[in-house]
Amino acid sequence: MKKTWGDKSYYSLNYFLREKFGEKVFKISLDAGFSCPNRDGTISSGGCIFCSERGSGDFAGERSCDIKEQFTSIKEIMSKKWKSGKYIAYFQAYTNTYAPVEVLREKYMEAICQEGVVGIAIATRPDCLEPEVLELLEEISKKVYLWIELGLQTSKDETGVLINRGYELKVFEKALVELRSRNIDVVVHSILGLPGESKEDMLGTIKYLSNLDIQGLKMHLLHLMKDTPMEKLYGEGQLTFLEEEEYTDLICKAITMLPKNIVIHRLTGDAPRQALIGPLWSLKKWEILNSIDRKLKDGDLYQGSSFSPT
Ligand code: SF4
Repeated sequence: MKKTWGDKSYYSLNYFLREKFGEKVFKISLDAGFSCPNRDGTISSGGCIFCSERGSGDFAGERSCDIKEQFTSIKEIMSKKWKSGKYIAYFQAYTNTYAPVEVLREKYMEAICQEGVVGIAIATRPDCLEPEVLELLEEISKKVYLWIELGLQTSKDETGVLINRGYELKVFEKALVELRSRNIDVVVHSILGLPGESKEDMLGTIKYLSNLDIQGLKMHLLHLMKDTPMEKLYGEGQLTFLEEEEYTDLICKAITMLPKNIVIHRLTGDAPRQALIGPLWSLKKWEILNSIDRKLKDGDLYQGSSFSPT
């Protein structure tokens, strides 16, 4: 029975990309200049309560530059550190299927054409996948490796309302069916530590996802950033942060619950130091990841070791 993927006890994105492309693959995060219906007034104007000023694309390229300029400048910085490798163009900031289909086509095609690109990743909302967009995505997936990221965050609709997600679980389920029927890989975002959620709720989301036809999962720690609607909840004492130990324990448990074929894209979150209110321990990203690795090894825990199909 497989217990390791390289030096990890879980199926990491690095491992998957190396296996698939035979060499190191880097993601280049882009801001294609889109908006979001949950921010522009179509669904709401407040956005998800944790969403930062930059539409959760805080490390993406410069919004004012075109795709080629963003890609080239980030690639240049990366190639100083790593001499070789391929790239995934990652449409990260805001909702990257929220524009007329011809605009989307132009942006995606521009990304695909950049030197060294072997795939694209598109982050979006499940309620922004109109039939013509799905058609375009299917077309793209036949040209280049594609995955779609859906920001679910939680399987609990009650929390979905509290965080102003703006859609119900059934909308996500429908989008997943649509994407999978076109053979498009789906990566889901979940957040641990959302307001009002118990540890059982958080692991309930992982359990729910573990039985779906998804190809990847990003697990984020909830970050409280400056100038987000969540600051108010925090000020009112309605938000408490997970402690580091609690979080790493939860993540280890979550890893064991996932089947071995789901690629784990993320085990914590990145937040710009100057914008982060808390939890501040999350800034020690490498320490956290090392601690997760250690706990898994010490406990002889690995991805799938407590997976139970329902
Ligand atoms: S859907 Fe994404 S971009 Fe829109 S408000 Fe929520 S987190 Fe921000």
